[in-house]
Order: sequence, then structure tokens, then C-alpha cells
Amino acid sequence: MKKPIIIGNWKMKLDYRRSMALAQELATLANPVDTSDNDVVVCPSHSSFLLVSEILKNSGVQMGVQDIFWEDNGAFTGCESPKFLSEAGCKYAIIGHSERRQNLGETDAVVHRKIKGALDNGIVPVLCVGETLAERQQGMADNIIFTQVTKALSGIDLVSSEELIIAYEPVWVIGSGRPIDPEEAERAFRIIYQAVVDLWPLTIAQTNVRIIYGGSIDASDFRDFSALDHFSGFLIGGASLKGEEFWEIIKGI
Ligand code: PEP
Repeated sequence: MKKPIIIGNWKMKLDYRRSMALAQELATLANPVDTSDNDVVVCPSHSSFLLVSEILKNSGVQMGVQDIFWEDNGAFTGCESPKFLSEAGCKYAIIGHSERRQNLGETDAVVHRKIKGALDNGIVPVLCVGETLAERQQGMADNIIFTQVTKALSGIDLVSSEELIIAYEPVWVIGSGRPIDPEEAERAFRIIYQAVVDLWPLTIAQTNVRIIYGGSIDASDFRDFSALDHFSGFLIGGASLKGEEFWEIIKGI
């Protein structure tokens, strides 16, 4: 396994006060061994980003955001500049989460531009891909995953100083309380790996891209994924809001 990365997606679930409390809990739980063996990232809401970042600044936990815009600056009301976020200490950006694709109509073309905007500013994109239940039932899952990866990344020349994370997140599993069978996740990882190998030189695909899983992972089931081919970590929603459980996964991966 490449160096594992565990990313907590706090979604729009914690207000300022609760974000501060969770960050303080993580700062207490964090230790140098866990955070050097693994990349540990939290993605709070934009309104709590600086506060959480300040609390976690010496903990080894890195900062990410749940979305990003593609332009560095200009007349784009309400958008978050990758340049400004990078200057504020943001290292990772979740891009193309299914909740944005579904609720805000984010397309593969938009996702592609955001990935470029992040890379241009030294932010590691966390590209989310995955099929809905209807797509799965129609036998389209493999095609959807391959197409989302290819459309997001075609035309981007990932160079050896850059990194990319791709999260396989079956949409129907997110928040359901039960992750997908590990064998099914492995099948999706292979498709993602194939798409990446088709785009870039093998050394880049093998060294600079990590593939992770997201969807209802908690402390009771994360171990089932550790031995899978191409697996390098987790994107975690619900369980990342519970400090001790989140840290149990980090220690056990
Ligand atoms: C997510 O939304 O990215 C996610 C993985 O959520 P959960 O762990 O709650 O399914």
C-alpha cells in the first residue's frame, strides 16, 4: 500500500463551536507516529477553516476544503479561490463530491476545471467518482466510473511534483450505514487505475496517484479494505465527526 491518506469530510454538519471542539479533540488525540505514517486531513466548512487550522497547526493533521473554484481571483461572487485557500494553508480540496454533482448540478466539465485550478495552486485534488443506485442497477457502474475519471482528468498533464487522490464513492452507499463489499470496491479501483494508466506515464500513475474508498466507513469495518489492490485510504463523512472513532481508523489502517 502507498502511504495511506485518511480524509475527514465534515460536510455542512458542524457549526463554528462544534468545529472548534472537534478540532481540539483531534489535536489531543494526534501523535507524531500516526501523522507521519499516514496523511491525515480534515475538511471543515469554509466558515471554520481558519479556526480549525489554527487549532491543528502543530498536530500533523493537514487542512483541506470540501470544494474550490477554478479561477484565482475576479468577479465571482461567493466562490472560493484556490490561490487564496492555498495561501491560507489549504493542502487538499475535495472536488466533484456526489452531493455537489446532485444538488448543484456540477458537471464533469466543471470538475475538470476545478482540478486544474487546484493543481495550479499546489493544492492536491481529491476527485470523487461513483455511480448512483439506478446506474448500478442498469449495469452502467463501470462505465460511469471510467467516464468520470477520464472526463475530469483528460488534458491535464500531471507532473512528478504533483499529486492526485481519486476517491471511489458509490453514491448509494454514502451515509447508508453500510459500506460496499470490499471486492466491489477493488473492482472499481481497478477501473480507476486503468483510466489513470491510459492517461499518464506508468511512473506517474503508480507514484503520484492514490486511490481511496469513501462510503459509510466506520471503526467496525475499515480493516476489510486494507489488503485490497490499489487501496490507499479513506474519505470519511459521518465517522470523521467522532474524534475517537476517526482516530481509531487512522491508527488501525
Ligand atoms: C462522504 O460523503 O464523502 C462520505 C464518505 O460520507 P459517509 O462516510 O458518511 O458515508
